[in-house]
Amino acid sequence: MAATKRANSGAAKKPKLGQNFLADVGAAEQIVEALGDVSNSVVVEIGPGKGALTQVLARRAHRLIAVELDRMMSTELRFKYRLQPQVEIIEADVLKLDFRTVLNRTIGPLNDLRPLKPSRARVVGNLPYYITSDILLRLFEFHEQFDVIVIMVQREVADRIAASPGTRDYGMLSATAQLYARIENLFTLPPEAFSPPPKVHSSVLRLTVAPRFAELQINPAGFIAFLKMAFAMKRKTLLNNLKKDYGEEIIRSSLKEAGVRADVRAEALPLETAAQIFRKLKN
Ligand code: SAM
Repeated sequence: MAATKRANSGAAKKPKLGQNFLADVGAAEQIVEALGDVSNSVVVEIGPGKGALTQVLARRAHRLIAVELDRMMSTELRFKYRLQPQVEIIEADVLKLDFRTVLNRTIGPLNDLRPLKPSRARVVGNLPYYITSDILLRLFEFHEQFDVIVIMVQREVADRIAASPGTRDYGMLSATAQLYARIENLFTLPPEAFSPPPKVHSSVLRLTVAPRFAELQINPAGFIAFLKMAFAMKRKTLLNNLKKDYGEEIIRSSLKEAGVRADVRAEALPLETAAQIFRKLKN
């Protein structure tokens, strides 16, 4: 009896693995549309779940590789698409997947021996929100494999990813994402578009992969480590965040040379200025 009561009172239970499934068919079409023409592309879908996006993609993509961690769901999808050799369902943790290996295999699923096209793949997914940043960082690690990434994330996270320098939302996530891609915040969906409905609104972002390393004259690993330090304590000035790693004097002179005030915070700096300061500090 007590156990039944407890089970029934669990209505607001958190869905496992961030499983809020898209129930709005029109929105699924719109998300896939945002990828552009995929008839000649390999598309990687992250977290297909019950297949709301998968069924649109399976009709349109040259080849679809969907990565789902949930064993039951990946098994069901594999059964559903067993007669469509252009659709491959991989049961895996997207955070552990080596995209380079997956995308550069020459032998396809089942009996499909068509080689994959050498062009870069597109990525799409209604992401499990609890690991949004980790997934993005993973995709950036393999950025050479991708050209367009369309993802649905929690609205507030989308706002942060797309934020401009000098605004409240701009931070480490914005700077990193904007180092790798041009970001467009496309549209927002209410909780009712999902089943079960999450507690938050969701937004769809398009990231056109266009790394800025050469233009900013930085090496990405070093610059990202610098950004991490710069944003370590958001309310502290850049000077205070950096001074234990560089001398105060050199920081002051690089800020001056970059034409910014000594009490500037990292969130106010466009990437060009942050890169200029970084280059000066490194020399
Ligand atoms: N694409 C479906 C839709 O729009 O209805 C499902 C989206 S649901 C928000 C997120 C999906 O990601 C779930 O199916 C979940 O099982 C899957 N997932 C969660 N963590 C994952 C991981 N680390 N790797 C791959 N898939 C994951």
